[in-house]
Amino acid sequence: MAQNNPLFESRTSFLTYLDRNTFDVIPGTECSICATNYQEGGEAPVQLPCMHIFGSLCLEKWTQQSATCPMCRTILHPIPPSKIEYDQERARLQAMAGWLASQKVRLVTEEILFQQEWTKLNEETDTPTFHPGIRRITEALLVRNRFVMRVNAGIEEADAMLGLHHFSWIDHDANERGRDQFRRLTAQLEALRDEFTQALGL
Ligand SMILES: [Zn+2]
Ligand SMILES: [Zn+2]
Repeated sequence: MAQNNPLFESRTSFLTYLDRNTFDVIPGTECSICATNYQEGGEAPVQLPCMHIFGSLCLEKWTQQSATCPMCRTILHPIPPSKIEYDQERARLQAMAGWLASQKVRLVTEEILFQQEWTKLNEETDTPTFHPGIRRITEALLVRNRFVMRVNAGIEEADAMLGLHHFSWIDHDANERGRDQFRRLTAQLEALRDEFTQALGL
C-alpha cells in the first residue's frame, strides 16, 4: 500500500498520541519490540492508527531511528531534511566502499593471473628481460601494486567511519557532523577511484 503522507504531522503530535492512547491488553501480553510483558516492562501498550500495538517506551526509542511502524512500515511522522541528507551521504560512502571492495578482489585475481602468465613465459624464453610479454606483465603489476595499499586503507577507513556513526535522527548536530565527515571521506575515495581507473585504463 503506497502512503505518501505520514500519519502524524510532527514528531511532537506523535509523542502526544503515545501519551494519550494507552490500550488494554490481556495480562501477560508482551511488547513485540522488547519481548517483555507489559506488567514487567513498565511501559504502556499503545495501539497505532495502523492497529499495531507496541510498548510506548519502545515506540519512542524505535522512532528515533526509523519513523515507521515496526510491523507494517506505515510512515508515522515526517523525517527532518538533515536526516535524509545524512542517509544520502552515508549511502554514497557505502557505495564507494563497495566499489573499492570489488576492486580489491580484482587486484588479487589479476595478480594471480599475471603471475601464472609470467611463470609460463619465463619458462619459454632465455632472455626474460627483453621478452615483450614479460615486460608488459611486469609493468601491469607495478601499476597495480601502487594501489593495493591505498585501496585496502580506503576500505578500512570507510568501514571505521560508517561504524562510528549510529546517531538518532533527532540529534541534528550529530547528523550534520556525520554527514560532513562522510562527504569528506567520499570525496577522497572518489579521487582514488579516478586515479585508479585512469592508471589501469578502465
Ligand atoms: Zn517494549
Ligand atoms: Zn503498523
